[in-house]
Amino acid sequence: MTDLTDEAIRGCALPGADLAAAAEATRRVVGADPAAALSGEDADALVRLAAHYGAHPFTPLEDVRALLDVDRERFAGLLDTFGRVPQLRDAVLAGPGGKYWSNTVLSMERKGVIDNVLHREVVYPHIVALYPGPTCMFRCHFCVRVTGARYAASELDNGNAMFSALIDEMPTENPYVMYISGGLEPLTNPGLGTLVSRAANRGFKLTLYSNSFALTEQTLKRQPGLWDLDAIRTSVYGLTDDEYEATTGKRGFERVKANLLRFQKERAARKSPIRLGMSYIVLPGRARRLLDLLDYIVELDAAAPDRPIEFLNLREDYSGRPDGKLDPGEREELRETLELFHEQAALKAPYLQVDYGYALQGLRGGVDTELIRIRPDQMRPEAHIQAGVQIDLLGDVYLYRESGFPGLKGAKRYIAGKVSPEKRLIDVVREHVDTRAGVSAVDGDEYFLDGFDQVLTARMNQVEADVAAGWEKWRGLMR
Ligand code: SF4
Repeated sequence: MTDLTDEAIRGCALPGADLAAAAEATRRVVGADPAAALSGEDADALVRLAAHYGAHPFTPLEDVRALLDVDRERFAGLLDTFGRVPQLRDAVLAGPGGKYWSNTVLSMERKGVIDNVLHREVVYPHIVALYPGPTCMFRCHFCVRVTGARYAASELDNGNAMFSALIDEMPTENPYVMYISGGLEPLTNPGLGTLVSRAANRGFKLTLYSNSFALTEQTLKRQPGLWDLDAIRTSVYGLTDDEYEATTGKRGFERVKANLLRFQKERAARKSPIRLGMSYIVLPGRARRLLDLLDYIVELDAAAPDRPIEFLNLREDYSGRPDGKLDPGEREELRETLELFHEQAALKAPYLQVDYGYALQGLRGGVDTELIRIRPDQMRPEAHIQAGVQIDLLGDVYLYRESGFPGLKGAKRYIAGKVSPEKRLIDVVREHVDTRAGVSAVDGDEYFLDGFDQVLTARMNQVEADVAAGWEKWRGLMR
């Protein structure tokens, strides 16, 4: 087969693809095996199937069967053939929704996480987020935290004893099983460095998600254990003090920048392997600022030329709140800016790994990919404890990543249990599974789900629908 044949198939989920050419190419690929000739109609259906899943990754198989208007027997044959043509799989991955598959779904499948949730296994969660911060110095307008709500300083000792016991309990086969985030700002916990060292001594590679306002010289001196982190990911909330003030309520830019410049120099001087990266949410009115963000990164790189900033996660506001949306005009501007950013980043910051996330990747490909939005009636009562949990300073184990904030209305319903030096995480998982403790979602609960939770929920709903409809062998189309 020629490369052109493969290309015709691989591009079939892209906007404007020549589906007839892709179907003909599929027929030739399958027909190369004399025992497996494919009718033109079936080739056409296979291409439509791949194109559909490339754009809509979470459709139950039964819905696609109805769309293709084929009977069950023929559909089973098509699914078998799909599994034998890697170019069709590539086509799904190259589609506008391909990032959902490649970033999350397939890696969760490979690691058995989806099966663990499906079969309600009692296992350690695949990802355990530690939320050790008692408070936060910012008040970001898009953050769900309750203004003024914080954990009492008197909780710190017990909380850190609980985290220590948890770190000692966690199995070590996956060094990336835990990360540190919030909830509130983790660097407001003065015992954080000690926890990080404890985890590193057991081989865990922790990333710290922080606003880096407190990543000062004094903090690093007082908490040398922070150098045992695997990575620090700084959330960047603007590129001037004015923008920080508008977003966080505090003029934090210059201070964070000074912290990062100093950190850059120190990690170079220490030859520390710790990786440094950023996350940046493109807020309404700030699409054009991406090029200034690149200049900021280049400035930080210049402070330690041998140790450039390693990674950048670009995201849209995934909260689903109306004020987080960019209007159509600005989305077009964002699309153009993303291309400029991509070109300039390759020249000015060639070592920077940029992750554009689900929607921005689609936008770059010329498709306005809608982010998955789970509605309350689609939330799964038991959630997905085998896939991920968040644990706050009180030891409360939250089922969704945006629910672990003190005082957040309704969030307590999503606590699966409490870990402590006496109670292990695996026991919390077991009790949650054994009691089938489900939560009936109400309006507003959907905001407790972050992007990962949304994708997991969509995938589990899809997979369960496939199994219920008798498609277990092919459930979820690809694994
Ligand atoms: S988003 Fe993070 S930095 Fe901003 S207020 Fe919330 S916890 Fe603090």
